[in-house]
Amino acid sequence: MNNEFNTLQKFDTGNGREGFFHSLPELEKQGVGKISRLPISIRIVLESVLRNCDGKKVRRKDVETLANWNAKKPANEEIPFVVARIVLQDFTGVPLVVDLAAMRSAVRRVGGDPKIIEPLVSVDLVVDHSVQVDYFGSADALRLNLEMEFMRNRERYQFLKWGQQAFKTFQLIPPGIGIVHQVNLEYLAKGVLSQRSEVGGQKSEIFYPDTLVGTDSHTTMINGLGVVGWGVGGIEAEAGMLGQPVYFLTPEVVGVHLTGKLREGVTATDLVLHITQMLRAQKVVGKFVEFYGEGAASLPVPDRATIGNMSPEYGATIGYFPVDQESVNYLRATGRSDEQCSAFEHYFRTQKMFGMPRKGEIDYSVDLELDLGQVQPGVAGPKRPQDRINLPDLGQTFRSLLQQPIKDGGYGKESVDLSTRHLVQLNGSAPDDGDMPRIDPGEELNKAEMVTNRPTPDPAKDLKGADPFRHGESKIGHGSVLIAAITSCTNTSNPSVMLAAGLLAKKAVERGMRVDPAVKTSLAPGSRVVSDYLTKTGLQTYLDQLGFNLVGYGCTTCIGNSGPLHPKIEKAIHDHDIVAASVLSGNRNFEARVHQNIKANFLMSPPLVVAFALAGRVDLDLTKEPIGKDKDGKETFLRDLWPSLTEVRDAMQSALTPEVFRKLYRNFADQNPKWNEIPASTGDIYQWDEKSDYIHEPPFFEDFSMKPGKIENIVGARALGIFGDSVTTDHISPAGAIKASSPAGQYLISRGIEPVDFNSYGSRRGNDLVMTRGTFANVRIKNLMVPGTEGGVTKYFGKPNVGNPVAETAAATKGEQMSIYDAAMKYQKDNVPLVILAGTEYGTGSSRDWAAKGTRLLGVKAVVASSFERIHRSNLVGMGVLPLQFAEGTNAQTLKLDGSETFSITGLSDTIEPGMTLTLKIERANGKSNLVPVSLRIDTPIEVDYYRHGGILQFVLRQLLAKNR
Ligand code: SF4
Repeated sequence: MNNEFNTLQKFDTGNGREGFFHSLPELEKQGVGKISRLPISIRIVLESVLRNCDGKKVRRKDVETLANWNAKKPANEEIPFVVARIVLQDFTGVPLVVDLAAMRSAVRRVGGDPKIIEPLVSVDLVVDHSVQVDYFGSADALRLNLEMEFMRNRERYQFLKWGQQAFKTFQLIPPGIGIVHQVNLEYLAKGVLSQRSEVGGQKSEIFYPDTLVGTDSHTTMINGLGVVGWGVGGIEAEAGMLGQPVYFLTPEVVGVHLTGKLREGVTATDLVLHITQMLRAQKVVGKFVEFYGEGAASLPVPDRATIGNMSPEYGATIGYFPVDQESVNYLRATGRSDEQCSAFEHYFRTQKMFGMPRKGEIDYSVDLELDLGQVQPGVAGPKRPQDRINLPDLGQTFRSLLQQPIKDGGYGKESVDLSTRHLVQLNGSAPDDGDMPRIDPGEELNKAEMVTNRPTPDPAKDLKGADPFRHGESKIGHGSVLIAAITSCTNTSNPSVMLAAGLLAKKAVERGMRVDPAVKTSLAPGSRVVSDYLTKTGLQTYLDQLGFNLVGYGCTTCIGNSGPLHPKIEKAIHDHDIVAASVLSGNRNFEARVHQNIKANFLMSPPLVVAFALAGRVDLDLTKEPIGKDKDGKETFLRDLWPSLTEVRDAMQSALTPEVFRKLYRNFADQNPKWNEIPASTGDIYQWDEKSDYIHEPPFFEDFSMKPGKIENIVGARALGIFGDSVTTDHISPAGAIKASSPAGQYLISRGIEPVDFNSYGSRRGNDLVMTRGTFANVRIKNLMVPGTEGGVTKYFGKPNVGNPVAETAAATKGEQMSIYDAAMKYQKDNVPLVILAGTEYGTGSSRDWAAKGTRLLGVKAVVASSFERIHRSNLVGMGVLPLQFAEGTNAQTLKLDGSETFSITGLSDTIEPGMTLTLKIERANGKSNLVPVSLRIDTPIEVDYYRHGGILQFVLRQLLAKNR
C-alpha cells in the first residue's frame, strides 16, 4: 500500500471494526497545504491522489500541488484522478466492450495474452437506453415495449452476455431494472469503499471515498449523495478501466451558498431549472460547483441529486453536495446495511469532511448566493435547458417565438392564427382505415421528406396485432402538446415530484378530466421502487386513467426514444407545418432530440407534465387560464389540482421503506426471464461474426505496431463541413432514427435489412460501418457550405492543388453536392486530409464517443472551432483528432469561408506543447491566402502522448503490451 506521506492511519468504522485510511488532517499537520480550507470536492480528489501516489503514475508533486489548491488561481496542472469505479449505460457501454474485445483480438494477433486486457476497477453496466415507447396508454405497454426491445437488441444483448463472462470485474444489470444514474444512487453507490491490503505486514482493510466516472454526462447526479463523479467519453472511461488515471485540469470551484427554503408549490425541478439558468449565465463550464449552507442542508438527497444531475446543462463538471447526516439517512432509507452506513459516517467524520459547511469556512474561487425562497415555478425551452420561462409567461413566450425569425431562435411564422386547428381522426393504424393507408415510415414518410423517430411497430408482424396508438378524434395546431412524458432519472429518482404527479392525476380523475388522444402519454421511471410506491399509495391507477401507464424502466423519451406518433398526426404536422410541443420531465430539449417532428420541447416537473397533458397545449398561462373542464362542465384550474407539500409528505412516509430497495435490488437476472433466454457465447476472445450488423470489429488496431508515428503538419486539407454555434454531439453522431435514404440507411438496405428493422444509431454503436456513415447525418445539421440545406450534405471539391489554388478547375471550385460520408470516402481515396470548422460550444450535449470516433474514421484530422464542450474536446484528442481554437472574434464567417478553400496547419511537431499557438493557412481559389493563429486545444501533457500514439486506445495498448512482455 502506498504511503508516500506517512498519512496511513487507523480509524474506528463504528461497528467495532477497525480500518485504515489516508488521513487528510495528517497531511495538513505535516504542512503540505491548508487542506481544511479546501472545497470538500477537491479534498475527495486529493485523497485519491494521495492514496495512489506511487512516485510514477501519481507523483509527490501532484499531491503537493492539489493540497495547495489556490482558489483564485488554480494551478495550470493536470490532476491524475484514479477513480474507484466506473458506470456505463448500454449505448455507450456496448462500444466500450467492443473496443475491449477488439483490443483482446489485437493482443492475440501480436502473440500476447488477451487476458492482459481486463478492467482494473469495478465496472457496472446498466442496460437502460434501448427501450422505446412504441406502446403507451395501456396496461400492456410495459410488456409490449420490453418484447420490442428484446426483438430489436438481441445481438447486442448476446454480445454483452459474452462480455459479462469474459471480464471478471464487470457487472451487468439487465434491461427492465432501471436507469443507470438512479440505480447508481439507490443501489450501486456505497459512499465509502474498502479494499483488502497489507499494512505493516498485517492484513488490513483500507477505506476510501466512493468516486467514479461514467460514460454518460448525467453521471453527475451522484454528487447529490456526496460522491464525486462525472461523465467522460467512452474513450477516457476505457483508459480508466485499464488502470489509467482520468486526467483533468485543476478546476476552479464555484461555491453556491444556499439559504432559505423552497416555497409551497415550488418543486425540485423548478429549483434545478432556476439553477441551470443562473449558472449558465455565470459561465461555470469546466468548473466544479459546490452547494453549501443551511439551504443546502435543508434539501433532501433526491433534491440534491436532481440538482447534481443537470450539471451538464449548467455546464459544470460537477454540482457537488458535501456529505452530512442527510446523506447517511438516505443510504439507510434505501436499504444499505448498517455496517455500510456507519463506515460512511465514521470515515467522513474522521477525515473532518462531515456536515454541510457554513459560509466562510471554505475558500471558493467564486462565491454565489441563492435564496431558495426566490425560486418560482417554471419550465425551460423550447430548445435549450437554460432558457427558463416563468410558468405564467409560457403562453406569451411561445406565441412570440412562433413569429420570431429562425435566426433569432424562433419558428419564423409570418402570420399566426393560433385558433386554427386541424382535425385528425385517430381511428387505428390498420391498413384499411379510410383515406389514410398505414404509412411505413421507412418508405412513404421518407419519400414525403418526413422522418420519424423509429419505425412504427408493425402489429401484425411484431406483436400479434397489438395496437400502438390511442383512438379518437382530435384537433391539433401550433402549440398542441403531442408528447407528455414523465421520464428521466433527473426527476424519477425524486419521490416528491413523482408523488406530486400522482396526486395531481388523482384530483384530475376525480373531477372526471381526460387527456386528449393525440397526446402520447408515458411514464418511464428509473427504478421499480417508483412503481412500488405509486402502487402502494394507490396513485398509479389515476395516472393510468390519464394514459400515464408504465411504459418501461429506462430512458425512453429522455434519450429521444419517444417512439412514433400516430401516422395521421405525423402527416398533419407535415401538411400544415405545425409547431407542435412536447412536455417532459427530462433534461435536454435540443432540436430533434425528443422527436424529429416536434419542434418545441419544454422541460418541467412531473406534475406539470400531467397538467400540460390535460391542457393539451402550451400557449396558455396555467396560473390564470383553466386547464380544462370537469365532468360537470366547470372550469378547472391548476390551483384546483396542485397537491400541497403536506399531501406529498404524507404519501412519501407511507410508501418508502428500506426493505423495498433490498428486495428490488437483488437477483437481477431472475427478475427478467427474457434476459435469461438470450444465449451467450463464451471464451476470452470474441468470435466476430461478419453477418452481424450490430457488432463489428472496429478498424482502430488495423496495422497496429509497437511504435507510434510522428507528429507532423497537416497539409492540403479540405473542409468537410462548416457549422455555426452549438453543434451538439447529436448533430455530429445522432442517436435516433436512421433515415432510409441516408448513407447508413442505404448501407443497411444493401445488407438486406428493411427500414422497419433499422433500429436507431444509438443501438448500432457496436458497428463502426453504420456509425461512420451516420456521422454528421443528423437531419437537422446545417452545413454552411451548402446554404439552405439541412442534413448530412456537403460539397466535394476534389483533390486540392496545394500551393496553386488558382489552377483548380471551375468545376472543382464550384463543388459537387453529395452526402458527407460519400465526400469523405472520395477524399480518403485521394489521401486528402479533412478539417471541420465550427462556432462556439462545438460538441455540446451528451457525451458520445462516436462523435469523435466517427469524425476520425471519416478522415478528419482537425476540428477548428470558436470553443469546445469539455468531453467532446478530450474525446477528439483521445481519437487522434486535433482540436484547434480560433482567437476570439474570428470564425469561418469572419474569414468568409465557403469550403472551396485549401487548409494547412503548421507548427505541429513531436515537441508540441499544450495550448501553444499554431497557424491555420487558408488558400483561396482566387489565389489569396490568410495565415490565422489558432490555439492547440490539447490541454495536458498526457494528451500530447495520446495524440502522438494516434489515440488513447493505441497508447494504452502499447503500454500494456510493453509491461507484459
Ligand atoms: S434518463 Fe435521461 S439523463 Fe437519465 S441516463 Fe437516461 S438519457 Fe441520461
